[in-house]
Amino acid sequence: MSVQPERWGIIGGGFLGMTLAHRLAQQGKQVTLFEAASQLGGLASAWQLGDVVWDRHYHVTLLSDTKLRSLLAELNLETEMQWVETRTGFYTDAKLYSMSNTLEFLTFPPLGILDKLRLGATIFYASRISNWKRLEKIHVADWLRRWSGKRTLEKIWLPLLRAKLGENYKKASAAFIWAIIARMYAARRTGLKKEMFGYVPGGYARVLERFGHLLAEEKVGVKLQHIAKKVVRTIRGEVYVEFENGHNERFDQVVLTIAAPYAARVCPQLSGDEKSRLNGIQYQGIICASLLLKRPLASYYVTNITDSWVPFTAVIEMSALVDPQHFAGNSLVYLPKYVTPDDPAFSLTDEEIENQFMRALLRMYPQVKQEDLLCFRVSRVKYVLAISTLGYSTWLPPMQTSIPGVHIVNSSQIVNGTLNVNETIQLAEKATDTLLSQSDSAFSASVKQEHAHEETYC
Ligand SMILES: Cc1cc2nc3c(=O)[nH]c(=O)nc-3n(C[C@H](O)[C@H](O)[C@H](O)COP(=O)(O)OP(=O)(O)OC[C@H]3O[C@@H](n4cnc5c(N)ncnc54)[C@H](O)[C@@H]3O)c2cc1C
Repeated sequence: MSVQPERWGIIGGGFLGMTLAHRLAQQGKQVTLFEAASQLGGLASAWQLGDVVWDRHYHVTLLSDTKLRSLLAELNLETEMQWVETRTGFYTDAKLYSMSNTLEFLTFPPLGILDKLRLGATIFYASRISNWKRLEKIHVADWLRRWSGKRTLEKIWLPLLRAKLGENYKKASAAFIWAIIARMYAARRTGLKKEMFGYVPGGYARVLERFGHLLAEEKVGVKLQHIAKKVVRTIRGEVYVEFENGHNERFDQVVLTIAAPYAARVCPQLSGDEKSRLNGIQYQGIICASLLLKRPLASYYVTNITDSWVPFTAVIEMSALVDPQHFAGNSLVYLPKYVTPDDPAFSLTDEEIENQFMRALLRMYPQVKQEDLLCFRVSRVKYVLAISTLGYSTWLPPMQTSIPGVHIVNSSQIVNGTLNVNETIQLAEKATDTLLSQSDSAFSASVKQEHAHEETYC
């Protein structure tokens, strides 16, 4: 009797789905990857901005991103990475400050010396905590007030928390800030105490092109423009997937890598408890503008903003990191605005966003003129970042659902880290091991049963 390889369907062609497909194919599984968009990559995909092709959302790699760097090595791109020491800016009380080293931190005007010492001690203390689960029991603002003091909370932490989480910061636990500090520290440990950020020349467009070729070599079927509409287990024990374009397919195992509320909608057979847990995950979305400018803004890769009149939450000057040659000598800038999925800003037109954002940008950087703007493009995504609320890791639904053969693996399961490609790859690899060990025992049991049937009939 010849045993057919197990058929796996993966829904979602971001880094999670791609890495899962790659690892499962390496284990001899027959894999098909479905992506709603017309290209792979999801949040890390690339797009055209004027004459330039670069990431739709700003991306950097840290020296400590070992999982991502190993994958880039598999794609023969790791040795090409460019590592650059970057600087950080801070825009506060309508002034731009450099905050790139200890001296600049000590002379930062908005805080007194005692506040600064407490702020530094908070960051250092957080970097030493290994039992992050106890931080899930306390609200982030309460924890920061306790360690940094009321003034620093109001002057620095709250504007930064609001920038990333909006009013949802009130629901976040201290594990949220701990994960950000842990990533920052890991980068510095590996990077000789300097903030070294890396990129692949050509950006994620190049990484994704190579990854696509690798998947093709591994005989992974990639189906773009396939929006999964329904995933159900049939009475024959297969998993049936129906797509909005009318196509349908059957698999032994299906993994959904899409945001939790989408997964809840697509799988009608989930229990009420599973659906309410998936729908209960609080997400932040993003409106992220990409700008191509004739001249640079400043020399900071990231500029944090604490002034609430600014309609975006940070300024990312990609060309302060990536050689502007990649952008025909121009500057590439991102203006992100993190918002809740129901924020009215999602219904603003591109033109309205451009007007609002440009007005603020010209006020912040008086040397820049409207005529310097070559191109402005807006990306909108409703479910980007799952907020680590109180007790988050204790009530997350498991990867294996109550429907045999249907699994949900998505970035909301990154419980002790921040959202980044390295964590995403790590999650995909952990999921491959977990799902394979569960499915292999189920699969061999079903093959044995089939075999027993054949013997009876012979
Ligand atoms: C503004 C921003 C900046 C970032 N900066 C960095 C950075 O500097 N460094 C870093 O490492 N990471 C960064 N990240 C994070 C990184 O992009 C993510 O961690 C990673 O891309 C997540 O991959 P994913 O596969 O989990 O999710 P996604 O990329 O969201 O992939 C999910 C995919 O599922 C598809 N899909 C949804 N519904 C369906 C359906 N019904 N049927 C079929 N397909 C469907 C979507 O189209 C999407 O392609 C950033 C993200 C953002 C938004």
